[in-house]
Amino acid sequence: MQKIYIKKNKLKALDNRHPWIYSGAVAKMPESLEDGEIVEIAVGEKLLGYGFYAPGNQIVCRVFEYTRRTMEVLTQEYWNEKIASAYALRKSHVITEETNCFRLIHGEGDFFPGLIADVYNDLVSIQILIKGVDKIAPMIVKAIQNLGFERIYNKSKEISKRLENVETPKGWLTEKQGSPKVEVLENGVKFWVDVETGQKTGFFLDQRDARSLVGQYSKDKKVLNTFSYSGGFSMYALKAGATLVHSVDASQSAIDLCDENAELNGFNNGEHTGYCADVFDHLNAMESNDYDVVILDPPAFAKSSKVLTKAARGYKQLNLKAFRKIKKGGILFTFSCSQVVDKVLFRKIVFQAAAEAHRNVRILHQTSQPNCHPINIFYPENEYLKGLVLYVE
Ligand code: SAH
Repeated sequence: MQKIYIKKNKLKALDNRHPWIYSGAVAKMPESLEDGEIVEIAVGEKLLGYGFYAPGNQIVCRVFEYTRRTMEVLTQEYWNEKIASAYALRKSHVITEETNCFRLIHGEGDFFPGLIADVYNDLVSIQILIKGVDKIAPMIVKAIQNLGFERIYNKSKEISKRLENVETPKGWLTEKQGSPKVEVLENGVKFWVDVETGQKTGFFLDQRDARSLVGQYSKDKKVLNTFSYSGGFSMYALKAGATLVHSVDASQSAIDLCDENAELNGFNNGEHTGYCADVFDHLNAMESNDYDVVILDPPAFAKSSKVLTKAARGYKQLNLKAFRKIKKGGILFTFSCSQVVDKVLFRKIVFQAAAEAHRNVRILHQTSQPNCHPINIFYPENEYLKGLVLYVE
C-alpha cells in the first residue's frame, strides 16, 4: 500500500486524532495514486493509521483508522466490523419497539468520513460524500446487508454538494428493492418516509430528542411548527394532546406529507392544518398571542463561515419575529443546524433578538443531537445541531 508521509512538526492534529490531514502537513505524497485510494499514513518509518487519499484537495486525506500496528483495511471483514460496531451502539441505545428509524453511520462520528447511512424500518438510505467511500461502495453494501438489511438506496447524487467525483448511481444498490416509501416509528409516533422523493435521506432523524421535549410541553396547547417538513414536531405535539397544531413549510410536498402523517397517526378531525408558505411572511402576517408553543427549525442559513454574518442576521430576524408574536408564558423551541454557528454564537443571537423584542426570556433546556448522531470527541466540527427551549414572558 502506498504511503503519505507527515511532517514531524505537523503531528499535533494527528496525535489528537482529528480525522482530516491538510496538504500543508504532508512531507511526501504517494508517487502515483488515484483519488479515493486507501493510503497508509506514516511519520518516518512509524505507522500512524489509514485514510482515504484525495489529491488536489485542501484536505488530502481523511483518516478512518488510527493505529500503530499494520492492519488489513482492504478486506470485506474490516468494513463489516466497522459498520457492525456502529450498529452495536444503536442496538444497545437507540432501537426499541417504539423506534425503528435512526442514523446508522454518522460520518466522522462513527469514524467513517464521507458516509452517511440512515435506517428507515427495513430500508437503508445512504449518502456517499467522497471518492474514497465511492470506491468501496460494494463492500459497504455487503456490510450493511450483513446486519440483515436487504434494501439499500443511494441518495448521494441528488443531495451532496460536497461530492467529489462520486460515481455510484442514485437509486437501489441491492437486488431486493420494493417501495421507496416506508412507514417508520419514532418514539411510537408514525411517519411516512419516501427515500426517493424526500429531502436529505428521507427524514430528519436528528430531532428525535427535541421532538420528545415538544411533546412534553404541548398538552392542551396551540402549537405552531415552522419549517415543518413532514411534520416531525407536529405529530409529537398532536400525540401529546395539543388542541391545535399548525405546520408551515415552503414546500407543498412537505405539507402534503404532514397531512398524510397526521392521518397515519389518527388525527383527521381538524386538529392539524398545514400551510404552504414562506415562514418569514407567515410570521409577519399572523396575529400576536395566538400560540402557546412555537417551533423554529430552519434549514442551515450558513453553509460556510464566509456567510456567517448574513446567516446570523437571518437567525436574529426569525427569532425576533417569533418573540414578537408568541403568547405571554409561551414556549419557544429554536434551533440552528448550521455547523459554523456554534452554540455560544447561537445563544448570543437569540439573546439579542429577545432583548430587541423586549421580552423576558429564560432558558429551560439546551438541546443537541440524539445519540444516533454521536459526536467524535476529536472532531468538534461533528457537532452541528443546537437548540434552546425558552420560556417567554
Ligand atoms: N423541522 C423539520 C425539518 C426542517 S428542514 C423536521 O423535524 O423534520 C427545513 C425545512 O424548511 C424544509 O422542509 C424546507 O422546505 C423548509 N424551508 C426552507 N426555507 C423556508 C422558508 N423560507 N419558509 C418556509 N419553509 C422553508
